[in-house]
Amino acid sequence: MRLKTLIILLLAAMLVFTGCGHKEKPAQTDPAADPQGETAAQQPADDSAGAETQEPQLPTMETSLDAYPLEAATDDVLVLVNKTHPVTRDYVAPDLVTVEHCDPNVGNADTKKMRKTAADAIEELIAGAKADGYDIVMRTGYRSYDYQDYLFDSYASKYGEEEANTYSARPGQSEHQTGWCCDVGVIGVGLTDFDYRPEAVWVADNCWKYGFILRYPADKTDITGYIYESWHIRYVGKDVAKYIYDNGLVLEEYLGILD
Ligand SMILES: [Zn+2]
Repeated sequence: MRLKTLIILLLAAMLVFTGCGHKEKPAQTDPAADPQGETAAQQPADDSAGAETQEPQLPTMETSLDAYPLEAATDDVLVLVNKTHPVTRDYVAPDLVTVEHCDPNVGNADTKKMRKTAADAIEELIAGAKADGYDIVMRTGYRSYDYQDYLFDSYASKYGEEEANTYSARPGQSEHQTGWCCDVGVIGVGLTDFDYRPEAVWVADNCWKYGFILRYPADKTDITGYIYESWHIRYVGKDVAKYIYDNGLVLEEYLGILD
């Protein structure tokens, strides 16, 4: 009996010391400690140091878009948004206001908005064009993540995903979500037909005076990832716009972010 009791006591003591097999939860997997997933995003996939010490695996991200938590920088007038630097799903541009001179037949109430500074600038650009004899309007400005989702899906179902990706951004990869850019055009003229219009030449030559750049020039498609878009202009402020125009750059080159 005594030996049996001793064995039971020994077993009980062992269980106490081993914590009944339960291990401490690794700090890295605690979502409360890393609400934005920033730690995971900054962790290189081929981190050899991590592999050697066999650290617990960090939580995998839900989608690749979540790997670029740019919320803090997205409000900046020079934020870069492209295929490799997307905006998160829940980002909504602040201080959006409706642009007065819009094409009434395009988009919806939301897409007629831009951020206040850019909206003021586009009104000035439209007035400047008018003074030179050109009737330009804004077609679409702000686009929510969900609206981009809808647009890309409708293009992809018509023309295939690969082709759609050369001119239509995947959700989160369009700077339209920042409220800093817009497509301009002429009422009654299709989007791509704007290429051949004298208004497009005016925009390319003059938009920098109002703080805008032609975001997707014909000779920079390898950098921007998009075909020439005569209609898509991006607000960056007058000084930067002039520098980019004078030096024939695109935003990626100006910022030195070419990855
Ligand atoms: Zn556009």
